[in-house]
Amino acid sequence: MDDRLIVQKYGGTSVGNTGKIMNVAKRVVSYRNKGYDIVVVVSALGDTTDELLALASKITKTPSEREIDMLISTGEQVSVALLAMAVHKLGKEAISFTGSQVGIITDSSHTKARIIDVNTKKIQEELAKGKVVIVAGFQGTNMDREITTLGRGGSDMTAVALAKVLNASLCEIYTDVEGVYTADPRIVKDAKKLDRISYEEMLELASLGAQVLQARSVEVASKFNIPIHVRSSFSEKEGTFITKEVKAMEDVLVSGITLNKDEAKVTVRDVPDKPGIAAHIFGAIAANDINIDMIIQNVSRTGCTDVSFTVMAGDLPKTMKLMKKVSEEIGAGGIIFDKDIAKVSVVGIGMRSHSGVASTMFSALASKKINISMISTSEIKISCIVRRNKGEEAVRVLHKEFNFGGKK
Ligand code: ASP
Ligand code: MG
Repeated sequence: MDDRLIVQKYGGTSVGNTGKIMNVAKRVVSYRNKGYDIVVVVSALGDTTDELLALASKITKTPSEREIDMLISTGEQVSVALLAMAVHKLGKEAISFTGSQVGIITDSSHTKARIIDVNTKKIQEELAKGKVVIVAGFQGTNMDREITTLGRGGSDMTAVALAKVLNASLCEIYTDVEGVYTADPRIVKDAKKLDRISYEEMLELASLGAQVLQARSVEVASKFNIPIHVRSSFSEKEGTFITKEVKAMEDVLVSGITLNKDEAKVTVRDVPDKPGIAAHIFGAIAANDINIDMIIQNVSRTGCTDVSFTVMAGDLPKTMKLMKKVSEEIGAGGIIFDKDIAKVSVVGIGMRSHSGVASTMFSALASKKINISMISTSEIKISCIVRRNKGEEAVRVLHKEFNFGGKK
């Protein structure tokens, strides 16, 4: 590991305007002055990516994904150049690069490409000359030199990948919040910043909708054991360290509570209770690239049973269309859906070694007369589906119940 090398990633809100870009440059230079080699990854300014996508959708509802990548990769090219100029202004040497220039090679799946290789030669040469190297996040090129992007929030992926190939000692992710919280501070006023959390917990939190880090980048960091420090670009305070699990983490029963209002529930009614039916339903779903989250199948007493599952709300129309067909094929009693749901989840590796988290969760919800319509559990997570308008209240009562607000 190279103790002198740090990868820093600055998100869109941290470089939202030229004043903020100057602030980022000051921070970069201060690290440089402490003797660190710095590789900086930047996102597009503010909401640039969304604005570019909105432009495209004014032209066509079905743009080519190749052209989308051509379009949205421009955002990051603007920010790297401006940041390099800002560092120059402060009297330090810096050079900016696109993903393609530094050899970030990806597969060909436009708008959600995966990195397959990174050529570090160019970056290392520039670092050796004493320069700050600034790399455009979120982008790469495939083997045919076509520009690709890495999925929304993909600059995190660029940062983690560079930290890995350059053997950096730390990957700092600068954002507009102080770190990872026990719950969304907009919902729970006394939500607390976590000092440290395991990759596994972060992965659950990220995929459950805590917007701080791209889930895929956490997976990669975990695989290669790259420590991540999520922190604010507007303060000097330490944020949250995401690292591999250490013993002390197990003493914390629950690390965080999340809310996801982006799912919808589909029920296939009176499904015949015989072998192959679940395979038929979920085979059709998988073949159409629809992601399923929770599944519930009841005991059948009459030879028929209801099967319910949740999908991303955006996938609901597609799923309904598909299930209508499947329901006829298998001789089920029809389908219904429910868009009015929210998923509340508690996450913590302490659950592995402590019992009672589920019952505590259920009684806390019951104390507020919040009805649970589906439950799913994993080793470190319990999720409940509740009415959408009860979602925030559910998060608050759970936050209190697991004593995040109170003294420990
Ligand atoms: N600019 C891209 C996005 O908005 C990548 C990123 O911010 O990480 O998704
Ligand atoms: Mg982002």
